Amino acid sequence: MLTWATASDLDRVDHHRRSTEWVSNLWRADDAKLLKLDDRSRFTTNVGGSKLRMTKPFVEYDSQRHRLLGLLDSSPIFAVEALTEGEVHDFREVGFQLSDNERDIAATAAAMVNWHRSEPFCSRCGGVTQVINGGYARHCEVCDMDHFPRTDPAVIVGVLDDSDRLLLGGQAGWGNRVSVLAGFVEVGESLEQTIHREIAEEADVTIATTRYFGSQPWPFPRSVMVAFFARAASAEICVDSEELQHAAWMSRDEVRERVAAGELSLPGQSSIASRMIGAWLDGQPDLI
Ligand SMILES: [Zn+2]
Repeated sequence: MLTWATASDLDRVDHHRRSTEWVSNLWRADDAKLLKLDDRSRFTTNVGGSKLRMTKPFVEYDSQRHRLLGLLDSSPIFAVEALTEGEVHDFREVGFQLSDNERDIAATAAAMVNWHRSEPFCSRCGGVTQVINGGYARHCEVCDMDHFPRTDPAVIVGVLDDSDRLLLGGQAGWGNRVSVLAGFVEVGESLEQTIHREIAEEADVTIATTRYFGSQPWPFPRSVMVAFFARAASAEICVDSEELQHAAWMSRDEVRERVAAGELSLPGQSSIASRMIGAWLDGQPDLI
């Protein structure tokens, strides 16, 4: 089970990575490994995507292109956006079948290359920025400001009614897939306030209580999904067609039967939505 709840083994070497010389020495280490990602942040894997395929760095270290992710069992792990060979997959497709450590590497690498690709300029003055800290920051030489990779929080909520039915909805283009509801945190909001607003906006359902479930990185392009279960104070649903195409309260039996019949499909196994729906289907106690 992917819980993302224990300490990561990936040592991000925060204090050391500020030295370009120290990072470049790591690049030349015998046990250094490099993960290549393509221009859609898909990373190279073995056949089937159950394991990352990393190579030993063989070109000269380039502080502007090569991203030090950290040390894993003292081995330096780097990432680069480059031409790839062989199989490539994104985190959504194969995250669930990687080891915990490889999941950390894949999520960090994808979010980091996404950030560097999308924000090469200073957001304050528009100047060109230089990569520093092994890839964990960019520095603007015009206005002297440092920029760091942003992580955008989003809440994802398993809303239950008084009968423990789960609110599941689908968006246009999802086919028969349904999921729990989710939305980005807006400026000035707490996570709980986002829950109340999003569920009201999308389904016009009022929330009585909330309870934290867990979180996980979601590098599309750089989110962290923060999951809660919530108890509804109202049962009537009115779907906002701009955000959702349909939504309904479903019992565990109904979900199982309709999935078995091919009428419904559930979120992919790499997502926290999959873990949430699984916990509810299994009758895990104390979800809310
Ligand atoms: Zn600047």
